[in-house]
Amino acid sequence: MTDLTILSKYASDALPSEPFRARHLIGGQWLDSADGATFERCSPAHGTCVTIAAKGGAADTDAAITAARAAFDQGDWAFSSGKDRATLLLRVADLIDRERVRIATAETLESGKPISQAMAEIEGAADLWRFAASLARTMHGESHNSLGPDMLGVVLKEPIGVVSIITPWNFPFLIVSQKLPFALAAGCTVVIKPSEMTPATTVILGELLIEAGLPFGVANIVLGYGDPVGTAMTTDPRVDMVTFTGSTGVGKAIVKAAGDTLKKVSLELGGKNPQVIFPDADLDSAIDAIVFGIYFNAGECCNSGSRIIVHEDIAEEVIARIVALSREVPFGDPLNPATKVGAIISPQHQAKIDAYVQAAAKAGAQVRLGGAAIAIPGLSGEFYQPTVISDVTANMPIARDEVFGPVLVVLTFKNLDDAVALTNDAAYGLSAGVWSENIHTCLEFARRAQAGTVWTNTWMDGFAEMPFGGVKESGQGRELGRYGLEEFLETKTVTMRIGRSRTPWIETKAI
Ligand code: NAD
Repeated sequence: MTDLTILSKYASDALPSEPFRARHLIGGQWLDSADGATFERCSPAHGTCVTIAAKGGAADTDAAITAARAAFDQGDWAFSSGKDRATLLLRVADLIDRERVRIATAETLESGKPISQAMAEIEGAADLWRFAASLARTMHGESHNSLGPDMLGVVLKEPIGVVSIITPWNFPFLIVSQKLPFALAAGCTVVIKPSEMTPATTVILGELLIEAGLPFGVANIVLGYGDPVGTAMTTDPRVDMVTFTGSTGVGKAIVKAAGDTLKKVSLELGGKNPQVIFPDADLDSAIDAIVFGIYFNAGECCNSGSRIIVHEDIAEEVIARIVALSREVPFGDPLNPATKVGAIISPQHQAKIDAYVQAAAKAGAQVRLGGAAIAIPGLSGEFYQPTVISDVTANMPIARDEVFGPVLVVLTFKNLDDAVALTNDAAYGLSAGVWSENIHTCLEFARRAQAGTVWTNTWMDGFAEMPFGGVKESGQGRELGRYGLEEFLETKTVTMRIGRSRTPWIETKAI
């Protein structure tokens, strides 16, 4: 396609001459795998090997869980003051700021996302560490002083224990930062497994945790695959909780795996997120947000606005404007600061995206833009064209499944009831959006949409203060806000009698 905006290979010294060597962090020590196994990660944009990582096995995972369990049970961290934990989290935030370019570059090289977006992601992650620090100092339980003249009740908030943190490849540093600082603020100890596609930035974070003075064993990192590392982290009886972000399929498998030991499981899963556009919407803003919502992170985003539901009276105008603006979005080398859309994570994933598009076309949908891979001059990696598909019916797989690529589908509606019905006709319920200048339309939609987040006249704005999570098959539990800390807390009831006023159960003569 010649009428797209394509940025060719960028002259950059960011591609390393030697791959980054990533090892496990277990009990404060950087370790190779017990059996010496490793795996490689190549840049999906450039093809070059950028990371060689230790490939964890059962023994490494067992050692990490042993370290986390011992650190928790020993009690120094769990019973440390909120002030001390907050001080440490703030130190980590400062170190993240200091290492921002290094972390962002590693993230871009492993994930294929544009460097400008990686930089913003690392900045946002540091903010989460600062926000979690504020929660560490302010968390508290409750007291009950109205239980009667001789009773006092106290509800204590305690760390839940050892937490397994399992993360995906699409926002590796941000997502670990949506979990880890909150778990640490609560006083938990952890074992972390980043995606096998993106191990480097979690390892860099481990270096910063050690530099900040986190006691050994409080945070452990095991690199490797779902099997055997992830399965051991979700079945070992010494683990109290699993917090997982990833696909709905793996999330369901984790719920089953964790069921035998009744671990708490918190899940952030997929989405097929609709944006509903009413005829009175500010179309300039809506079109820009639609284009942002579908191409941000190449559509490899749980919050991707991948399903547009537009009023039939304005559908043709909206599609034409989306197609025109899509042509202006710079796709290309993720190391170029001007690039807005980088590489697809792997050839297998690119093939999956394309298969959805081809199947939809075969079923009668119209490919209005894109619909194929793009060759970026000078680069050997995987890239997919900005793709807009209309004449889609609600039962087509492309309208129901998470495609996880730069592929937008357009459905139409006649009235608000129709728009709400289409919105809720989905297995997922992560986020939804509405565009209208009428506050009543927006509020009614916000109340009726089955989604964890509803955006009105905006898309994908997120804040540390605002909880995030999904309903239906998009997950359970919440991250961020004060709820993000609550997830990692257990509640203990302490009921106390004042004085010796208790009426005996047995009126014994023996005493
Ligand atoms: P994935 O489910 O394939 O993998 C996620 C993690 O789980 C990886 O670390 C992987 O190694 C591990 N894993 C795989 N099998 C496992 C098993 N049986 N037991 C334990 N761990 C296992 O997901 P992905 O492809 O890395 O990420 C993309 C998915 O993540 C998309 O579905 C996306 O919507 C979702 N996601 C959701 C959110 C959210 O907040 N809701 C955010 C980002 C990504």
